[in-house]
Amino acid sequence: MEGDVEFIEYEVVDQVAVITLNRPEKANAQHRPLLIELNDSFERAVADDDVNVVLLQANGRHFSAGHDLGGASAPRNGTWTMADTYRSEAEYFLGYSLAWRNIPKPSIAAVQGKCIAAGLMLCWPCDLIIAADNAEFSDPTARMGLAGVEYMAHAWEFGPRKAKELLFRSTAITANDALELGMVNKVVPLDELRDEAMTWARDIATLDPIMTRLIKRGINSTLDTMGFSASLAHSFDVHELAHGIMASMRAANPEMKTSNVLEHMRATNKNIADAQATERETAAS
Ligand code: ZN
Repeated sequence: MEGDVEFIEYEVVDQVAVITLNRPEKANAQHRPLLIELNDSFERAVADDDVNVVLLQANGRHFSAGHDLGGASAPRNGTWTMADTYRSEAEYFLGYSLAWRNIPKPSIAAVQGKCIAAGLMLCWPCDLIIAADNAEFSDPTARMGLAGVEYMAHAWEFGPRKAKELLFRSTAITANDALELGMVNKVVPLDELRDEAMTWARDIATLDPIMTRLIKRGINSTLDTMGFSASLAHSFDVHELAHGIMASMRAANPEMKTSNVLEHMRATNKNIADAQATERETAAS
């Protein structure tokens, strides 16, 4: 069974639903059509009795550059209000990520290259993460006048100290750092990423799906009992407050400059700066 739509590839192999982000020319930046197709793909995998495991991967050099700030991730016109932003982000951002986290089947994310801000909202909801050795995880939203992404799982992923560092400094966590922090399960060379993730997926797909469902439910319920879902609901409101503050600041000062995230990351993360310098050289030659 295969079926490709515009921004996502979908196929089932050995009881594994392989969902592939396919907007590589935009570093898999997430606009609304991509998110809707992705959510449809998760729902399709859940509904298919021939699927025991979901594997989320991405075409191109980078897993995801986050929300598509240049595109129409949300319709905006003269009547757009904060209430519309709240409703839209509750459904398409927090709502989708929580739904993916709560699907009854085990899920694995295979991450390469950059995973920026809302990119985290695609891999964190998965049960397991395999990272290529070139993976970098970052959340530079503070440089955009925001208080983290809509799915505020940072402290749950690697504790409050590192979470604050990530958000205050906007620097990336490398694949090996992520492994040490317990944020990813395994780091492999880039050219082995897909095979390794598929090996894990195939192996888990041989288990009784009722058992994997119960294991997942047990672990997720433990986190929920500790406050995971309630804390994310609360942090989402804080995130929306930051949107409101930025909107009122812009209304008071239309000339206000929006911080340039990439500008900041160039200055603070040598790896990213070096990679971009190489890209510019390649493009110029
Ligand atoms: Zn937002």
